[in-house]
Amino acid sequence: MSGTETSRLLEKDRRYVWHAMGGYAPDGPSPMVAVRGEGVWIFDSDENRYLDGMSGLWCVNAGYGREELARAAYEQLRELPYYPLTKSHPPAIELGERLSEWLDGDYVFFYSNSGSEANETAFKIARQYHDQNGEPDRWKIISRYRAYHGQTSGALAATGQAQRKYRYEPLSPGFLHVPPPDSYRRPEGMSLEEYGRECAGYIEQVIQWELPETVAAVIMEPIITGGGILIPPDGYMPLVREVCDRYGVLLIVDEVICGFGRTGSRFGHQHYGVEPDIVTMAKGITSAYFPLSATAVSRRIYESFSAGEEYARLRHVNTFGGHPGGCAVALKNLQIMEEEGLVARSAEVGGGLLEKLSRLKAHPRVGDVRGRGLLIGIELVEDKTSKKPADAGSIASIIARCKQRGLLIGNNSDTVAGFNNVLTLAPPLTLSEREADFIAEVLTESIELEEGEGEDV
Ligand code: PLP
Repeated sequence: MSGTETSRLLEKDRRYVWHAMGGYAPDGPSPMVAVRGEGVWIFDSDENRYLDGMSGLWCVNAGYGREELARAAYEQLRELPYYPLTKSHPPAIELGERLSEWLDGDYVFFYSNSGSEANETAFKIARQYHDQNGEPDRWKIISRYRAYHGQTSGALAATGQAQRKYRYEPLSPGFLHVPPPDSYRRPEGMSLEEYGRECAGYIEQVIQWELPETVAAVIMEPIITGGGILIPPDGYMPLVREVCDRYGVLLIVDEVICGFGRTGSRFGHQHYGVEPDIVTMAKGITSAYFPLSATAVSRRIYESFSAGEEYARLRHVNTFGGHPGGCAVALKNLQIMEEEGLVARSAEVGGGLLEKLSRLKAHPRVGDVRGRGLLIGIELVEDKTSKKPADAGSIASIIARCKQRGLLIGNNSDTVAGFNNVLTLAPPLTLSEREADFIAEVLTESIELEEGEGEDV
């Protein structure tokens, strides 16, 4: 594309597009206009090439430019472009079976279009389940501070990031928050095992204080992603499962980012050996080639929604949820991931990349480098003793320096005041060793460069 064409697009962009997380800024910087993708690489309208270290928004798991995925959508749209799931169609049926295999459990699937909707569906199911099980007062939902669960009213209420909620409140009532496991900032001298117990204890305490008979569910990501890549101690999730069981509370696991190989297992919770009651998934389910999400519900819960009784059915419908095109793309995506061993690749290449990046821990401003599979966070601090989070300006400079060198990375922006100091990486799972080396080199150079150098961006 020519420079003139880019200018023309940007002029219209300024006039017609309200960007995510953005506002009116007539003199602000222009956004990058992405025009093409190939593997882990994205090309902008000026033919600049960038390694997409964030897979868009943590979602292009199988990488860009997959002819087979485009073809799967095309062929399905020619055959049957749409039909609602008040009835059924083959791709939704086949996909349910495949997802159940991937989950290694006995689940039934309600399809929607986005992670937010998958979580909203989970909340309705949890509340109705208790209501018709003779416990109508169980409607409260517990989640963790710093976690993101979506932008709709209930999903945002579940979100523990005040900066995403400010000026939109009050949201849906009945959502409570507890501190997340933040292993890097755990009390000095406390072992990871003790800390995992302490953090699971926060959930138990809130259940007790709120009265267990009023609590419907706990929702959590296996690893907090957008909130700063917070990896829990290994014992934490099994303990949360035990707490939920002890008080009759359902465990909803949000796999919107952690699912589909991101952390080096098919789903993140599989690292921890727990069996959720409900699992929500989106993003990587189609590697983002089509909007699709699913709420996986254990058969035991599903079977209590007796279709024979007037109000015991799930009275919940989503026009485009389970779109045949999306389900066909998801099926092909799962096939690709299996044939190319992308889950194992995530563990392997991610492990290697983490090791290379861990050398950065010697840098005075790098507090922590942590990750699982191809989900990696680098926490920057003012100094290692106080662990005071690095300021937004220095985070932005590093991100800009990476971009200048052809690498797109992210950070946990607009989450909790003062704690937006974690650089994030979640590249496509097709990342090669050489591409991983490129990420490590560029990131290391961009962090090590003294502030002020290379700031012409
Ligand atoms: N849950 C998690 C963990 C997410 O990261 C996101 C989005 O980033 C969502 C839910 C919401 O998904 P969506 O943006 O598709 O509504």
